[in-house]
Amino acid sequence: MANKRDYYEVLGVDKNATDEELKKAYRKLAKKYHPDANPDNKKEAEAKFKEVNEAYETLSDKQKRQAYDQFGPDGPSGFSGFGGFNGQNGTYTYSSGFSGFDDDIFSNIFKGFGFDFGGGSARNSNGPRRGPDLKYNLEITFEEAYLGVQKEIVIYRYETCNTCHGEKTKPGTHPETCTMCHGSGKIEQVVTTIFGQMKTAKTCSNCGGTGKIIKEPCPECRGKGKIKKQTKIKVSIPAGIDDGQTVVLRNEGEPGNQGGPKGDLYILVHIKRHSIYTRKGDVVYCEVPITFTQATLGAELQIPMVDGTKEKYKIPDGTQTGTKFVIRNKGFKSVNGMQRGDFVFTVTVQVPKKLSAEQRDLLTKLAKTMNEQPPIKKRGLFG
Ligand SMILES: [Zn+2]
Ligand SMILES: [Zn+2]
Repeated sequence: MANKRDYYEVLGVDKNATDEELKKAYRKLAKKYHPDANPDNKKEAEAKFKEVNEAYETLSDKQKRQAYDQFGPDGPSGFSGFGGFNGQNGTYTYSSGFSGFDDDIFSNIFKGFGFDFGGGSARNSNGPRRGPDLKYNLEITFEEAYLGVQKEIVIYRYETCNTCHGEKTKPGTHPETCTMCHGSGKIEQVVTTIFGQMKTAKTCSNCGGTGKIIKEPCPECRGKGKIKKQTKIKVSIPAGIDDGQTVVLRNEGEPGNQGGPKGDLYILVHIKRHSIYTRKGDVVYCEVPITFTQATLGAELQIPMVDGTKEKYKIPDGTQTGTKFVIRNKGFKSVNGMQRGDFVFTVTVQVPKKLSAEQRDLLTKLAKTMNEQPPIKKRGLFG
């Protein structure tokens, strides 16, 4: 959904809103658009209500919010900037919006506000439920972060059982309708309160709310419908990624219940320290030793770039130790755009420790021409 409204806009908060502010805005709007509170335009209210919930579901989750902030409101179209990342499973995928809005979340939200929605809590266990999200910590090198990299990771997760295809029953058999709730998954009760008699619904204890009884469970998964397995997954890490950023793989989490969608897989990226380079945002920093003759006379240096190439750079004569030089656009790619940061190197002048007799002789001659000590620098007003 490319023309989805910005989640912050939906909630009417600014981008730096705290969790508390988000919650407050969300509660206000959820009450306002609650379908039961809008009997005259239920449909419109429901659409708004869903929108508000979806926005809150994303922004109230730290990782989802970070991913959202990083990749923008357009979801899949926001990825066009990467180039080369397609929308297939196993690559860098961002499907339309967050799929987490299912009946389960719906009824949880209603419960949170003291509303009873349809079957109340019984709906919870009966309806489709989205599978859990998974997290994976991935360490990559500085160079890999610079260039982008394809990684194959091995995760251990539940997969839908191949024998029963998630049906939980032995192939060829079928679940029977629960005789206690007659398939509804809930038992209605009439309770007497000070307000009079009220109907409530309770999850059926016989079938656990599924409405079905499995007499012959699938032998492969023992009636779970899913099996834990090792799975290899290809992950595309985009060039420019920074330490602590997350790559989201849609539908690579665990399978949902009752036909609910799969969860997502969050790849948290850690970048190893480099022996030469450091980084701040998109800028690369490095120290380059030079000889004192190079510093004195000026020189053309060969500066090693992160991608393995070398850049020629001419430093002027009289260069002091600690001087910074900037090579434009040789830093990290910014993840959202096509521009690059700069490459900054600081020169440090090395004083030779060993000299040949000839060098010593030449230097002694040089020293005689400069036998005056330079004046001691006065400290500025601010030190
Ligand atoms: Zn099975
Ligand atoms: Zn039952």
